[in-house]
Amino acid sequence: MSLAMVLGLMACNPKQDKQEDSKAKAKQDDFEYKIDQFADLRIMRYHIPGWEDLSLKQKKLVYYLSQAALAGRDIVFDQNFKYNLAIRKTLEEIYNNYKGDRKSDQFNEFMIYLKRVWFSNGIHHHYSTDKIMPGFSQEYFAKLANNSDEAEFPVKEGQSVEEFIAWISPYMFDPTVAPKKIETDPDKDIVLESATNFYADEVNQAEVLAFYEKVKDPDDKTPVSFGLNSKIIKENGQIKEEVYKFGSLYAPAIEKIVYWLEKAKEVAENEQQKKGFEKLIGYYKTGDLETWDEYNVLWLNDGNAFVDYVNGFIEVYGDPLGMKATWESVVDFKNLEATKRTKVISENAQWFEENSPVDPRFKKKEVKGVTAKVITVAQLGGDCYPSTPIGINLPNADWIRKEHGSKSVTMDNITYAYDQVAMQSGFLEEFAASQEEIDRQRKYGSQADNIHTDMHECIGHASGQLLPGTSSEALQSYSSALEESRADLFALYYMMDPKMIELGLLPKLEAAKAEYDGYIRNGLMTQLTRIELGKDIEQAHMRNRQLIAKWCYEKGKADNVIEMFEKDGKTYVRINDYEKLRELMGQLLAEVQRIKSEGDYKTGKELVETYGVKVDPELHAEVKERYAKLNLAPYGGFVNPNLIPVEENGEITDVKVEYPDDYVGQMMEYSTNYSFLPVYN
Ligand code: ZN
Repeated sequence: MSLAMVLGLMACNPKQDKQEDSKAKAKQDDFEYKIDQFADLRIMRYHIPGWEDLSLKQKKLVYYLSQAALAGRDIVFDQNFKYNLAIRKTLEEIYNNYKGDRKSDQFNEFMIYLKRVWFSNGIHHHYSTDKIMPGFSQEYFAKLANNSDEAEFPVKEGQSVEEFIAWISPYMFDPTVAPKKIETDPDKDIVLESATNFYADEVNQAEVLAFYEKVKDPDDKTPVSFGLNSKIIKENGQIKEEVYKFGSLYAPAIEKIVYWLEKAKEVAENEQQKKGFEKLIGYYKTGDLETWDEYNVLWLNDGNAFVDYVNGFIEVYGDPLGMKATWESVVDFKNLEATKRTKVISENAQWFEENSPVDPRFKKKEVKGVTAKVITVAQLGGDCYPSTPIGINLPNADWIRKEHGSKSVTMDNITYAYDQVAMQSGFLEEFAASQEEIDRQRKYGSQADNIHTDMHECIGHASGQLLPGTSSEALQSYSSALEESRADLFALYYMMDPKMIELGLLPKLEAAKAEYDGYIRNGLMTQLTRIELGKDIEQAHMRNRQLIAKWCYEKGKADNVIEMFEKDGKTYVRINDYEKLRELMGQLLAEVQRIKSEGDYKTGKELVETYGVKVDPELHAEVKERYAKLNLAPYGGFVNPNLIPVEENGEITDVKVEYPDDYVGQMMEYSTNYSFLPVYN
């Protein structure tokens, strides 16, 4: 279950009308999504469909929250490594002032490095956390600095520029200095060996663990998230926390965040949301973690608000000990059209359950679909920028999730942008079996994919029941792959059903064909691009996809339902009979549901091992080679739209959206306008 779902629906906004929707869609389609590519990164833009349908008050709320999202940018740089701000500032000063040749290969390498540092919010790769090595020499770096006369480098007291450059260079160029942001080797001291700035240099792992051991109460049923918002330092030999709050670490940026949250509070959509802002402000002022928990409960329950946001020290992936959180923000509003879609699916959950090909004994007598909230992102900040998640499920505290539930959202416009860029990447042309397939994919692919995801999440996982006495753990290590198969098959089976047209979920069955093409091609072939040569498939979703595709391929062989053929030395996949394929999927769905309902471990294991795990090494090598030739950057990130207030007599009368296509320009603008922290904290 890749997404946990939130129960309950929002009220419909009568302002939203179908015509506006299609206008927004049309506008979306001639929008340039990809704007830059360098190293292993591609930079994209996202569109904010539905912006014009927001009320002025809602636009103001989004605008204030977007300013709060940008105000914390420096924090995450400093959290990632203690000299990230100094290095960023130095590079930006060179960018602004270097008077020499700016067209040379070396200068180009300098720009790539700067763009990567911006992307990673620091000198370590955002994903691998390894230090990014510059593609230019230390001598060239010194030359750049020496030919940037007007530059204001962040020299330390008494340092000349030359001394400063000599001092900071090893942090950039020496592979042995701060080599990894997060060290995970259990044989090492992961606190001392990680370059992250959550712990002062002289603090070791044992000291940190001992410190938190002392403050934790094992009997506390509602424990705060200890250590979430602080840096550990040593003072006079004593370990202590330096908390992120007013009057303490990161105060200048936190004060700006609070300034904008105060404004947001004035235009809150309801009392609950307003109380949430007040609590969050209180938390930022005091750093008190109980206030943070109280805030999270309020935030969780403001479900009727149209505009929503994430703002705080939240995810702990950046800490080797998984305790301390980087700062992040997302500002968004509900995507009504998409959320209507999930509502229609949920309302018909009983019909889907009753009409599925599953044995009636394994069906739920009463099934209640769940509704996910689909959102439109309007601004990304902190650790969510430029590299962003595509879904969010918060808060993180276990006891809050158990007692109050969680909010689960999918970021529709971000996913849409990814899809659009993927379509222009040449990937489809390389692997699709015919022009017909390509056209179908372009026309319906994104829409069909979304419906598939909705069906998978809203009713796939929710369908079916265990026989009395069957343990939910019976399938052991095969349970995730089989569970994902079950949800996928439920969705796939119904994609081809006339009911989908009747409910207005799909425009025509051609769209379902696009989903089948893509699913089978991916399961039999293209997902292999993500597997290392010589390895089997381990990830549950990938096992599930190959299981379904391969099982249907093998079982349909006699009727040539799915065909694998060669043309010009390349392998392709083609579906010859979509109706038959649907029948096969129905059969497999019935079987996988039986396995789950009866807890039939032996057959479940056999199914996964036979169809979902092993890879044909020759096809694998071919697919990898074809993929490599496309020269695609594996990691993506986004520039933000600019939200620009229109003022009359000091009052905001409207907020306009612009979509900049200049990554460097946006980064420099943010560094100029949203640098609220000193370089050394
Ligand atoms: Zn799932």
